[in-house]
Amino acid sequence: MSLANARQSLIATARQMETLRLNHGATGNLSLRDREGFWITPSGVPSAEMAPEDMVWMNFDGAVRGRREPSSEWVMHRDILVAFPEHAAVLHAHAPHCTALACLERDLPAFHYMIAIAGGDSVRCAPYHTFGSEALAQAAVTALQGRRACLLAHHGLITVAESLPAALAIAVEVEWLCEVYFKALTVAEPARLSAAQMAEALEKFKHYGTRGAPHLLP
Ligand code: 13P
Ligand code: ZN
Repeated sequence: MSLANARQSLIATARQMETLRLNHGATGNLSLRDREGFWITPSGVPSAEMAPEDMVWMNFDGAVRGRREPSSEWVMHRDILVAFPEHAAVLHAHAPHCTALACLERDLPAFHYMIAIAGGDSVRCAPYHTFGSEALAQAAVTALQGRRACLLAHHGLITVAESLPAALAIAVEVEWLCEVYFKALTVAEPARLSAAQMAEALEKFKHYGTRGAPHLLP
């Protein structure tokens, strides 16, 4: 992807997160792998005010190129991109239903087959650590093992994928799942799908929408 495309797609995705009510103000951040490093959104800038020149390029040692400060979560983005070379995009948002569940320090269980979009039979909730800390970055890497999404306790959501549109699609789905989970909880704790049922859903997901949505393939 060209320099101009990478910077534009970060801005477009940041604005879509706001439009889709996954994020608000200057919260959340995005990164996109680029050769020896990655592009990342600037710290403290609302998506509506972001210009291409505000995007920051970093290498994996933390060296910065850009006129802005990188996101305060750059260590988390860097550590995730290093730990999961199969992924190119990292999305972090304070999506309301995901964040509400994360504030309860609860994993999202396999109550609906669409949880397969996150790569397994749960979306784990990583323990709380201060934003921007190395401890938070490591907790996120641990919670993302075998998954394409995790919650951050008392904080928000992370998704990882091979592209920004795919990371956004997973975030939309996990936010929807959390919303439905809360609706179900108002009546009772929903039953869980069995390991066999989830294994079947995960297998089918490998071939789901391969013509229309190849970006959703694990
Ligand atoms: P930045 O504006 O520094 O990216 O921080 C937002 C955020 O969500 C921190 O967790
Ligand atoms: Zn955050």
